[in-house]
Amino acid sequence: MTHNWPALTAETVRHLQALIRLETVNPPGNELLAAEYLAGVLRAEGLEPLVLESAPGRGNVLARLKGTGEAAPLLLYGHTDVVPAESEHWTHPPFAGEEQAGFVWGRGALDMKGSVAQQLMVFLLLHRQGLPLRRDVIFAATADEEVGGEDGKGVAWLVKHHPDLLRAEFGLTELGGYNMEFAGAPVYPIQVAEKGTVWLKVRAHGRPAHASQPQSDNCVVRLARAVADLGRHGLPYHLCDAAAGMLTATSAAVGGELGHWLGELADPRYAEDMLRGAFHDHPLRPMLTAITHNTATPTGLTAGYKTNVIPAVAEAVIDGRNLPGTSTAAFLDELRAVMGADLEYEVTLESPPLQTSHHTPLYQLMAEALRRHDPRAQVVPYMMTGATDAKYLAPLGVPSYGFMPIQLPPGFDFMRLFHAHDERVPVAGLGWGLQVLYEVVAGYCGAAVQP
Ligand SMILES: [Zn+2]
Repeated sequence: MTHNWPALTAETVRHLQALIRLETVNPPGNELLAAEYLAGVLRAEGLEPLVLESAPGRGNVLARLKGTGEAAPLLLYGHTDVVPAESEHWTHPPFAGEEQAGFVWGRGALDMKGSVAQQLMVFLLLHRQGLPLRRDVIFAATADEEVGGEDGKGVAWLVKHHPDLLRAEFGLTELGGYNMEFAGAPVYPIQVAEKGTVWLKVRAHGRPAHASQPQSDNCVVRLARAVADLGRHGLPYHLCDAAAGMLTATSAAVGGELGHWLGELADPRYAEDMLRGAFHDHPLRPMLTAITHNTATPTGLTAGYKTNVIPAVAEAVIDGRNLPGTSTAAFLDELRAVMGADLEYEVTLESPPLQTSHHTPLYQLMAEALRRHDPRAQVVPYMMTGATDAKYLAPLGVPSYGFMPIQLPPGFDFMRLFHAHDERVPVAGLGWGLQVLYEVVAGYCGAAVQP
């Protein structure tokens, strides 16, 4: 069946504009506005969406296309809340959803109302077409990603209270599927992994005393020494499957000297020397270090209350991030080996690292679709050093891929516009991504086409 893609792109843009105009800034969220809008669109097409309010004004909407049940469902999910915007710094008002110069402007255009509109259109298209499905397709537009946390009112809440509505073989959500210029090559990352979080407080305890007669046991000195050791040595190198895939694929895609360097990073024999040497002042070094190491970054220090008193305790705040394959316990062992066993380690926040295999038929379909629509595309698995809502679905047994395909014009810096002023999405690139996403979902779920 041939589709009228320009008309479908225009329809996607209209939904995106409508979503941008609903102010779902979190906090407070008010995502019910978006949930009801989307439910209205779905109902008008004869579907039966479910609107679930997790708290007053915090709306989530879900809908399902039934398949034969031969295979487990595919979940398309995205968040409808956005971060705040300071309108005085914007070229176009952040909640007007204006279309100008080939872009739709507004808060959420990239993160991620544009993708919610895309997922909605794919879902509607499958329904209009009456395509026979071998698996259910679930559409979920959820609240509270930007602030939420474990007691969040979106995916975390749905997993707690309505897990059966979300069970699926895979979920597709942010972040990946767009192109970055990388040494002249259009590289398309597909997100397959996220680092975990281990925030903690590290304390040195000692004997309080008068500072006019210094003693050897001074907790301020001991903690300072431990923090300096951490800064000097860091934590050891590890290569997880996602990083190995990312480095090898990027190395091949980029080629040349940089490609060679990236390849060496995937070899434990050379990696540390490469980071200290070739990548020493390179802008990629922080990211490359983060995907090949557990990291522990000191972000705060407190001790003492009076100049002439040696205090009883000194405390460091550490932002820890663990790789897929490293448990919190193993992470703490590494940290103790560097900072010392005589300190107290208190974990204050923890979320597990995620890793979805990039050796799956679905990943293959996504890569092929990208290459079909951009013959120069170099597709690489990608590990995010932060976290998304995928971490709440993983414990339910639903692994995610970050895949929201958008083709970006030259010079368009996706990451620089994320959460920033003048957030905008290119209309042509959004329509391009609509086709890519449609082909992936239809290919994976359609009864006629076996992956
Ligand atoms: Zn987001």
